[in-house]
Amino acid sequence: MTAQTAWPAGVIARYLTKAAEITGDHDATVDVSQDPDETTATCRGCQRDISRYRNYMTEAVKRDAQKHAETCRAIPRPASTAASTR
Ligand SMILES: [Zn+2]
Repeated sequence: MTAQTAWPAGVIARYLTKAAEITGDHDATVDVSQDPDETTATCRGCQRDISRYRNYMTEAVKRDAQKHAETCRAIPRPASTAASTR
C-alpha cells in the first residue's frame, strides 16, 4: 500500500521522478501548479523550476514536467531537515 499525502493548494498534476522510481520515495515528484496567471512545474527532487508558461500553455508545462521527471535522479532533502526554519 502506498501512502497518499494531500497535494498542496494549486497543484494540478504530479510526475514521479526517476529517483522516485528507483527508491520508492514518492516525495520525489515534479509538481505542476496553477495560479490565476500561469502554470509552473517545479521539481521537488533537485529543487529546480522546470517550466513556466501562461495558463493557456498548461499542456506544454505538463510535457516539460514529464520530460524532466523521466530523467531526474535527485532525491528530496529529508523532511526533518527541510522543515527547519533556520
Ligand atoms: Zn529534478
